[in-house]
Amino acid sequence: MSEATYHIPVTETFVNVILPLATPKPYTYHVPEELIPEVKFGLRVEVQFGKQKRYSGLIIEVHQNAPEGHRTKPIIGIVDDAPLINERQLKLWNWLAGYYGCTLGEIMHAALPANLKLASETILSLSPLYDGDFVHLEDKEYLIAEALTIQDELSIEEVRDIIGTKTVYPLIRAMLEKRIIYLKEDIKEKYKPKSVACVKLAEPYASDRKQLNAAFDKLTRSERQTEALMAYIQLEKQQDYIRRQDIYKKVNADSSVLKAMEKKGVFELYDREVSRLGSYEEETVDAAELSEQQSDAIERSKTLFEKQDVVLLHGVTGSGKTRVYVELIREALERGEQVLYLLPEIALTTQITDRLQQIFGDDIAVYHSRLNNNERVEMWNAVLQDKPIVLGARSALFLPFSNLGLIVVDEEHDRSYKQHDPSPRYNGRDAAIVLAQLHGAKVLLGTATPSVETYHNVLKKKYGLVAMPERFGGIQMPEILVVDLKNEQKKRQLQSHFSSVLIAELKGALERGEQAILFQNRRGFSPTYRCSTCGWHAECVHCDVSLTYHKYFKQLKCHYCGYQTALPKNCPACGSTGLILKGFGTEKIEDELKIYLPTAKIARMDFDTVRSKHAHAQIINDFEEKRIDILVGTQMVTKGLDFENVGIVGVLSADQLLQFPDFRASERAFQLMVQVSGRAGRKHKRGKVIIQAFNTASPVLKEVFQNDFPTFINRELRERNDFLYPPFVRLIRITLKHKKPELLNDAAKLYAKLLKTALGSWVIGPAVPYISRVRGYYLLDFLIKLERDAKKIRFAKDTVLNSIDEMQRAEGFSGVRVNVDVDPF
Ligand code: ADP
Ligand code: ZN
Ligand code: ZN
Repeated sequence: MSEATYHIPVTETFVNVILPLATPKPYTYHVPEELIPEVKFGLRVEVQFGKQKRYSGLIIEVHQNAPEGHRTKPIIGIVDDAPLINERQLKLWNWLAGYYGCTLGEIMHAALPANLKLASETILSLSPLYDGDFVHLEDKEYLIAEALTIQDELSIEEVRDIIGTKTVYPLIRAMLEKRIIYLKEDIKEKYKPKSVACVKLAEPYASDRKQLNAAFDKLTRSERQTEALMAYIQLEKQQDYIRRQDIYKKVNADSSVLKAMEKKGVFELYDREVSRLGSYEEETVDAAELSEQQSDAIERSKTLFEKQDVVLLHGVTGSGKTRVYVELIREALERGEQVLYLLPEIALTTQITDRLQQIFGDDIAVYHSRLNNNERVEMWNAVLQDKPIVLGARSALFLPFSNLGLIVVDEEHDRSYKQHDPSPRYNGRDAAIVLAQLHGAKVLLGTATPSVETYHNVLKKKYGLVAMPERFGGIQMPEILVVDLKNEQKKRQLQSHFSSVLIAELKGALERGEQAILFQNRRGFSPTYRCSTCGWHAECVHCDVSLTYHKYFKQLKCHYCGYQTALPKNCPACGSTGLILKGFGTEKIEDELKIYLPTAKIARMDFDTVRSKHAHAQIINDFEEKRIDILVGTQMVTKGLDFENVGIVGVLSADQLLQFPDFRASERAFQLMVQVSGRAGRKHKRGKVIIQAFNTASPVLKEVFQNDFPTFINRELRERNDFLYPPFVRLIRITLKHKKPELLNDAAKLYAKLLKTALGSWVIGPAVPYISRVRGYYLLDFLIKLERDAKKIRFAKDTVLNSIDEMQRAEGFSGVRVNVDVDPF
């Protein structure tokens, strides 16, 4: 640099930054002069917040308007080279914040992978699988890596001390990207990275190729070992790392050969961590030829898309909707657009993933819950670099798409699209429609059982409709029998929970070599222990719910908080030994069925048996390959599964489905029963469905029985209209929580007053919810019903949020927690 430095006067520059916190508004920082040329939308910056804390925040605006009334702090450094998000993403975030009444910080927290949200509290560890040599690290990286070999973990503050610079986040970002370090939470989760068996040259050969001759000398007596070394040297020229498989493929060697070479000190065998996003290694296949119904559906969808942004594909179970999606996806790819394929629960959909991967191979990336933080970032970057197809659950909406052309929302009716906790409590289907609008993309909602909201939009002509009323291959819809359990009881034919009809049908199916699925909705009527003398029953100490008995673990468990305790020998209230099991869940069904069908191979699929993703895939696989005759399960067995050989489907208690104290009970019951029925007789032969019920008079049962969606939807819409429920009004549910019930009551009274002053009779509550205490917190609910008028809704939301602030500012109430849930499910 020359002697003279010139100061070019510049106007002060400011950035608005979102922090991953629930703070209501973005924060404004000023930009030190030397950083001004670098700041731009979408970059992360390192900033101080409060006295001590530092975060990586996201720039959403660069401007010259000094905020009035307070001095701004400077940004400390810039973390990224290129923007992390695009303008459309911010628009989606803004919409979500406005619609669901939450903050941009909460949304950013949900949207960004953990590795992209560094904060003072972030703890770093050395990656246990980093196999590189420290020698190749940059100086600062070396210092950190070395420190991490001495002590297991470092906080970001400690990193700052070690390298003694003002800004550290860019360095940490680089080290995370190179996988030298991990966020501690990954290690804590006992995350098991995917690794492949690899081989490399041992020292001194690795660093000094001239000595390779000596290595060959050691191998002269074995031709296969010599070949393996030659193969290695050749492969090394083409690949970054060499898998043992690569060598086995090239020469006639197996693991014993490589082990022998390891002993001789020529090779080193090691496991290398690879990305789970990694390549699809099998060959892809052509999609099957279209049926006439499918071609028609595709043509009709395309015609509708010319005028409409959203189309409902209402295809009965087994109609072959997947093949229709495939075609529309392919056409979008040909136009150079990206496609998002949303599923309600990614863990439950290995079948779909497999099918799509067979067709689209590497073009498809799956965003699933088992990705670790590094892989999430990789996924993020893959989408940023225009990955053509993303398959994922609702959170995949947050990926940085640049050019979406089509969003498929499969099983659009599914309640798992709605996020319950934490905020943002958004509905993935609805947010998908907004995201599509931002990209000018089309949305295809697919289901056999449309939600009432969606169908209402079809009737109002807001959405287009494509129907596929026939099953693929001309298979008839299953025959449905409703069994009256009162009758069975009278005739003394009911054995435990099984009607004579169901047992006979199951026996028949087994004799014909067919399989069966039994559905038992466990919620609400799980098996609990009661005292037959005094009526005592085991309740959770933290929540207002009965504990469920899990025979396998011999434990009573709370399904809300996970609390568990051993089954007492005597009643804790009266000392009686007459404790009896009441109610029934899947585990009990599985057990009892074994008594009536002793030779059948019975398995169970529910939350308890599929804790690991692997277990779930295993059960599906066993069932596909007929190692299981009867599969007993919860909702999980209703979801999109496609088996060839299911002759019988049984619903053990339709009553349980219909008795929920919720305006959606009928809708849900209808959907569940139709979906589970849909698992019967899909490929070759008509199936049979047996629905057991005490109350056979319910109209919903009749509608399921007659496969009559039009009657169902008309009746349901009429009732919703009469009783003012969605889609005719909007609902907002507000839940106040506190550990002290009296304090909660007082806070709720104040909140009620604030709400009612502004909103009058629209406000219902405070009311004690169905479950009134969870994890030690007492709960009180408010429900607001609103006309569907944008202005009034806006006003109501503002009132809801402002009143929370006001209530919390009142003395003693600052600790009252409040959840706002717009469009609760
Ligand atoms: P849905 O999702 O509508 O319930 P699927 O897409 O699972 O139906 O299709 C039902 C069954 O029909 C699957 O086993 C699928 O492989 C088969 N199928 C669908 N379309 C075709 C086609 N065009 N050619 C051959 N098989 C098909
Ligand atoms: Zn008792
Ligand atoms: Zn509990």
